[in-house]
Amino acid sequence: MGKIDFLFCDELVDKLKKVMKQPICMQSSVYYVGVDLGTACVVTVVLDDKREPVAGIYEYADVVRDGMVVDYIGAVEIVRRMKEKLEKELGIEKLLYAAAAIPPGTDSLDGGAVRNVVEAAGYIVTSLEDEPTAANEILHIQNGAIVDIGGGTTGISILKDGKVVYVADEPTGGTHFSLVLAGAYRKSFEEAELFKRNPLNHKEILPVLKPVIEKVSVIISKHIEGYQIDNISLVGGTCCLTGIEEMIEKNTGVPTYKPVDPMFVTPLGIACSCRTEQI
Ligand code: ATP
Repeated sequence: MGKIDFLFCDELVDKLKKVMKQPICMQSSVYYVGVDLGTACVVTVVLDDKREPVAGIYEYADVVRDGMVVDYIGAVEIVRRMKEKLEKELGIEKLLYAAAAIPPGTDSLDGGAVRNVVEAAGYIVTSLEDEPTAANEILHIQNGAIVDIGGGTTGISILKDGKVVYVADEPTGGTHFSLVLAGAYRKSFEEAELFKRNPLNHKEILPVLKPVIEKVSVIISKHIEGYQIDNISLVGGTCCLTGIEEMIEKNTGVPTYKPVDPMFVTPLGIACSCRTEQI
């Protein structure tokens, strides 16, 4: 098994980051929207009829915990505000269709809430996949594991011949990393968050975060056991941490890779899963 090729994903994420700064206001017959309601971050991505990114926006928010919507009104307000801003930026009257995603295994518990938020914000919901399946819309992994380490949770999905055969989600993520840093450096949670996100601090904080990365690795190992996994692909904002891939590879014994910027893979994948028929 060679190194995973993230070229397609990396190019798409690069385009998204450019249009987040400067949207492309070209005419499109249809727009596909992806809404990622995360524990730490809410992201909306807009693709044109060729499924190229034309606009995008993100905001750190506290409306979801451990994959569950805890502030319904707040979540609706953020998604609606983002929708209006994107419509204005693109010079269009109305973004119609949107896809959303939920952490693996939470569909019976909370899939309805995520869908309701996106609908209440004014979209027609056309897809509701689990997050790793959405991420694979642009990763294109055939065999292996996708591990999405977000703000509140770590989602694991196992792929065989391009199909998801197992999913799991556990409540450990970037928020716990920030809590560890807040304790170690005697900073507030907010200060620790910002300190952690600065790549210049990554070399210094990696040894401090070792125990929590070990915990994530144990979670991964537990779920991939028995599946003959020979590669792990990391996505989610927490995997922006420089060197996390080497630590997870060492701890799990499985070759581990990540795209250039793992933060926007799932939101882009969600947008790619958007269709034009209501589900
Ligand atoms: P979840 O998937 O658990 O619901 P989410 O979708 O909000 O959460 P992401 O947007 O994938 O999660 O990631 C957010 C997390 O990534 C936060 O904990 C944030 O601190 C962390 N993060 C973002 N950028 C960086 C960075 N450069 N370095 C380290 N951590 C980062």
